[in-house]
Amino acid sequence: MNYNYHTHTKHCRHAKDTPEEYILNAIDGGIKFMGFSDHAPFAFPDGYQSYFRIPLTEVKDYFAEINSLRKKYKEQIDIKIGFEMEYYKSYFPKMIKNATDFGAEYIILGQHFLKEEYPDGVQSTVKTTDKSLLCEYVDTVVTAVKTGCFSYVAHPDMINYVGDSSFYIKEMRKICIASREENVPLEVNFLGIRTGRNYPNETFWKIVGEEQSPVTYGFDAHDKDAACDMVSLVKAKEITEKYALNYIGKPKIRLLNK
Ligand SMILES: [Zn+2]
Ligand SMILES: [Zn+2]
Repeated sequence: MNYNYHTHTKHCRHAKDTPEEYILNAIDGGIKFMGFSDHAPFAFPDGYQSYFRIPLTEVKDYFAEINSLRKKYKEQIDIKIGFEMEYYKSYFPKMIKNATDFGAEYIILGQHFLKEEYPDGVQSTVKTTDKSLLCEYVDTVVTAVKTGCFSYVAHPDMINYVGDSSFYIKEMRKICIASREENVPLEVNFLGIRTGRNYPNETFWKIVGEEQSPVTYGFDAHDKDAACDMVSLVKAKEITEKYALNYIGKPKIRLLNK
């Protein structure tokens, strides 16, 4: 594994270390293709401030700093700059325009919230047996995949549905089919492996194998040590073999149009 397009920075307030520290560790670990994908800033209505994104006041710094670093290290590593972003139906046109205007070269989908985050959002990782929430998650991810804007789906199995498993399989299969049809890879998320989260969810990866959706890996680094996480790679490979996943390696980055 010589790529990773899922990297955060201290700008989002729940990650630490400087972009340069991430880059140096990545180079050290043999990473040749790297992408910064911190949580996309967005001005929600009514002045609501999202607590886990780059503040709008720091977006310029985010791009300026990484742009200068990528020049500095261009002989050693190819760096792209983008965002991890949700798909919220009513905000998306503005979110994608903002992202492009800020200078994002690519986005990956990270559907951290259901119901558009504000005003009545529900975190995707909250345990639920509510079938309607699962359906909403699936519909949202499928719609996002079909926009053609996202380079891949980060932690597609983030939803923490603990209800009827045959219903889960039937619904989540729709994400796998959309991924295959649109050729938008699904990410085995190394942060989930490192920290023992509800994902990777093996029930999901079994379906991914059956559908032969394209699969890629992402470190989801929130600190410099995770800028190259070859420890979690062992578990990711195990899942890949166990379910005969269609692992494509480095994802094709869909560059956003200016
Ligand atoms: Zn994060
Ligand atoms: Zn995420």
